[in-house]
Amino acid sequence: MKDECSIAKLGEAILRKKAKKVKNINSKKIQNLIKKMITCVKENKGVGLAAPQIFESYQILVISSHPNERYPNAPLMKDEVLINPEIIKKSKKKVKDWEGCLSIPGIRAKVPRHTKIEVKYTTMEGKTKNVIFEDFIARIFQHEYDHLIGKVYLDRVKDNIDIVSQEQYFKLIS
Ligand SMILES: [Zn+2]
Repeated sequence: MKDECSIAKLGEAILRKKAKKVKNINSKKIQNLIKKMITCVKENKGVGLAAPQIFESYQILVISSHPNERYPNAPLMKDEVLINPEIIKKSKKKVKDWEGCLSIPGIRAKVPRHTKIEVKYTTMEGKTKNVIFEDFIARIFQHEYDHLIGKVYLDRVKDNIDIVSQEQYFKLIS
């Protein structure tokens, strides 16, 4: 059987492309894609996933924060699907903290991100929502949003010394 949750790895062209805006949220294709994204983020023990990571160039991301073996300190939050997200406002303050990415296995890095971010997006049901994300959730949002504009978290790293192997990372946080 075909691997349903095949993840695009760094070097795949789709990760460097700007994703398309979703026009018809109610279409079977988009609704099935969203279901698949929720399955895949959990199967891979991620805390977020963007559609281009499963080879679908659409502006859709899932935030699925809960403590798991890849992110033991992640806060528990209900899964949130964000379609065509836009950044409305971001805090001046940025903080560096660890990130990893399913598309870049084996490493972690410290990435500066805005601590607070106001975003506007469309829900799975087609409603427009304005939300303020803070701290770790704001970080997940910024990481996943980058995937929609053809960026990866390594592009945001300030100094190569902030990049470590996943093995070392688990030693550092334990
Ligand atoms: Zn990622």
